[in-house]
Order: sequence, then structure tokens, then C-alpha cells
Amino acid sequence: MVSEVMFCSLTYCGRPVRLADLMEEHQEELATIESIDSGAVYTLALKTHVGMSIQTFRYFAGWCDKIQGKTIPINQARPNRNLTFTKREPLGVCAIVIPWNYPLMMLAWKSAACLATGNTLVLKPAQVTPLTALKFAELSVKAGIPKGVINILPGSGGMVGQRLSDHPDIRKLGFTGSTPIGKQIMKSCALSNLKKVSLELGGKSPLIIFSDCDMDKAVRMGMGSVFFNKGENCIAAGRLFVEESIHDEFISRVVKEIKKMKIGDPLDRSTDHGPQNHRAHLEKLLEYCEMGVKEGAILLYGGKQVDRPGFFMEPTVFTDVEDHMFIAKEESFGPIMVVSKFKDGDVDGVLQRANDSEYGLASGVFTRDINKAMYVSERLEAGTVFINTYNKTDVASPFGGFKQSGFGKDLGEDALLEYLRTKSVTVEY
Ligand code: NAD
Ligand code: MN
Repeated sequence: MVSEVMFCSLTYCGRPVRLADLMEEHQEELATIESIDSGAVYTLALKTHVGMSIQTFRYFAGWCDKIQGKTIPINQARPNRNLTFTKREPLGVCAIVIPWNYPLMMLAWKSAACLATGNTLVLKPAQVTPLTALKFAELSVKAGIPKGVINILPGSGGMVGQRLSDHPDIRKLGFTGSTPIGKQIMKSCALSNLKKVSLELGGKSPLIIFSDCDMDKAVRMGMGSVFFNKGENCIAAGRLFVEESIHDEFISRVVKEIKKMKIGDPLDRSTDHGPQNHRAHLEKLLEYCEMGVKEGAILLYGGKQVDRPGFFMEPTVFTDVEDHMFIAKEESFGPIMVVSKFKDGDVDGVLQRANDSEYGLASGVFTRDINKAMYVSERLEAGTVFINTYNKTDVASPFGGFKQSGFGKDLGEDALLEYLRTKSVTVEY
């Protein structure tokens, strides 16, 4: 079954380009659907959720005719008589299971690499956000992608997701979601047919702000590191470590900026902060804040549901957070800034605290000192380190976590390997 539906990426590389063009033609419709379905503000949905999805298909369309192996000399005694060459082959039918925070973008990150390498796919969107995936399926037919290559299968995780993990004919499962579900999926993949797995899981990414930073930038990007997409952002900075001598100024400037944020209808073009994705998530965030207060962190701003219809959460700031507290350890996945201080000049101390987590998705550092920045970036245990920037994902830059944030990469050339197998052909002549 697998080999029958496998197809050659070379023969169809024009079609992902056409698909990207069609997505661009429909970008406003896609952004509107995404905004309604996920609560992302329309302007962000257009630029990021949809915009980066289009870029991702364009980028991987360029790889379709560049999937190739190596020629490797072997048997050094008689090097002219022996040769190995490698071929990169598609895996066959791949399953993709994604979360609800960037519904179309998560689809794009995985599907584009999967298709460029010549596989077919069955994708399960999150149960609460299936709509842009269905619109995408419609566009893929228009783009001339052969029938059966892209299959969108909405449904619950326990039912559809579990069946995909267990399926004996699926050879690969690409997953983005929480760490507990990722572990369960890996186990099912192993016990069924040992299918290949890649896991993009949770995070509690540290952002270290040194007193020699560009303060305007650190405030602006520190805000973005937490409040971007209402905190429903896998690489969101879950822990901010601010050097003592600038701590109070940093915090007061952040609060001043939060007060300017316009909270409201995500379709309104002037809104900065939309509703959380769904009710259960909002409730989880409110409990998270209660937990922070109970453990003795200072709730400096927010922490409540906004007094208006919908699942709106106030942008929230906690300070004086200690490393042992629940809110310092667990991901919120919401607009909650968790700040603690570190002693002036204590670079190794703050690094140790930053790395004291089972997660290792992303991280960041703000400083004007290039040597310090490089020192810190070498020691941070995270798949991504941002220096004097944050949230700067790019189609060409490999993305994925360390430790219990998972393994395998999306985006960039590295992502291709997740959907390929290497065949070594050895010849004697
Ligand atoms: P989740 O793990 O609950 O669900 C993710 C997907 O898995 C959904 O489609 C869900 O239906 C499916 N699923 C649930 N149970 C399953 C099962 N038994 N078998 C197969 N599939 C199953 O995560 P979520 O609540 O949707 O999303 C939030 C989490 O996702 C956060 O922890 C966040 O960090 C993580 N996330 C990570 C990244 C990343 O790139 N690392 C990106 C976005 C979100
Ligand atoms: Mn969940």
C-alpha cells in the first residue's frame, strides 16, 4: 500500500509553488477563518499564521528537486574498485498531529517538508481548530496535488490521533503538542510498528536580560516574548531573569506598555490582544495565577479574566518568583510574565538557573556585550537561542527542542531528514 501511493517529488515540484500562490490569493479569507477559529488577532493571523505558512510552502517547494545523496569512497585498499552512493528516499505515508495555537502554521511547517520529500500525509488538526486545515485541503485540490497525497482527518486526539499512532501502515508521525501526549505517542509508535517519530513539545524558555542591554529593545521584545499570540506560543519566554540593577525599571516600563494594549475583538484591525483559544484553556490560566499567588509570588498586574464576553485573559505580570514555584517550572501557554531577579554580574549563576529545567525549546539573551552573549548562547541548553531578539523564527532556520521539549527539527534543511530514509548502495566493479 505504501509504495503504491508514494510519488516522486521531482515530478510535481511546481504544485507546492502553485499551492503557495493559491494560499496567498486566499490569504485574507484564511486569516479571517484563523482569527475566528483560534482567537488570534487578524493582523497577526495575516502576517504570521498565514504569512509564514505561505513562506514555508515556497521555501520547501524549492527543495523538491534538491533531495540527493552522496558519493562515498570505501575500501581504502582498492579505492578505485568500490563505491557507495546514498539515496534519500521518502518514507511513505506520514501522519501529522498538531495543536491549536497556530493551526495553519503548524500544518505548513510539517506538511511542506513532508511533501517536498515525496511522502503522502494524513493530518489531524486539533479538535478545537480544524477550519483552516479544511480550507487548505480545498486549495490543495485546486493546486493539482494528486488525490490521496494530502488527507485532512479532523477529530479527537484520543480517537483519531491514537489510531494514527497505532496504525501499522504509517511509517512516520510528526507531532507538535504537549510533553505528556508526546510521550504517549512515542510509546504507541514504538509498540505498533516502530514508526519514526519527531516531537515538538512544551517549553519553559528562559530569557536573560542583562543591565547592559538596549533597554527599549529589551522591553519591547520582552513583552513580545510573553504576550505574542496571547502567550499561546510554544517558544514563549516562560521565565524572565532580569539583572538586579535594571529590574525595577524594566518592570515599570513593561507595566506601562501593558496598559496601552488594546484588548478586544480579534477581527478589529486595531486590537493588540485577543481571547484565549478556548474556555478550558482560560480556566487553566486563571488557576495558574491562583497558584502563583498561593505560593507567594507577587502578582503585580492582571491575573483575572477581562470583564467582557469571551475568553479574555488580562496580560499578567508576576515578580519575585522563586525557582521552586509551580509558575517557575510549568508552562502556562498564556499571557503571563514570570519574572525573577539575578545578582549583578552573576552570569554563571543565572545560566545555571536558566538550564535547571526539563524543557529546552528556546531561550534568549539581551546584552550589548558580544562576548557575554556568545558565552551564554554556548551554554544555554535549548534548541534555539535568540540574541538581542525574540520570536524570530524563519523558514530557513531549523526549529526544535532539547531534553523533554522533544527531538527532530521543523523548518530549514534539517527538516527534510525527518521525512526521509537513507539507502546506501555499495558497488564493486
Ligand atoms: P496536546 O498535546 O493536548 O494536543 C496536541 C495534539 O495531539 C492535538 O491534535 C490532540 O488532539 C492530539 N492528541 C491528544 N491526545 C492524543 C493521543 N492520545 N494520541 C494522539 N494524538 C493525541 O497539546 P495542546 O493542548 O493542543 O497544545 C498545547 C501544547 O502544545 C503546549 O504544551 C505547547 O507547548 C505545545 N506546543 C509545542 C510547540 C512546539 O513547536 N514545540 C508548538 C505549539 C504548541
Ligand atoms: Mn491539551
